[in-house]
Amino acid sequence: MIEVPDTITCIDCGQKAHRLTYPPSEEDGGWQPGDIVAYRCRGCNDRWDLVVEDPADSAQPPSASDFR
Ligand SMILES: [Zn+2]
Repeated sequence: MIEVPDTITCIDCGQKAHRLTYPPSEEDGGWQPGDIVAYRCRGCNDRWDLVVEDPADSAQPPSASDFR
């Protein structure tokens, strides 16, 4: 299952931004790659949208094409 943080650090002001989007139920399989998660910053009140990434993608070796 993909984990999505409850808070992120705002890039603009460095304060905490809390998640607005409720997590999908586990019966629905939880977060899916490509889901949009919205955060609201406590400091500057900006909204941040993160795209959920597939953890398997980042686990790929970066130079797989060099394999023989
Ligand atoms: Zn901010």
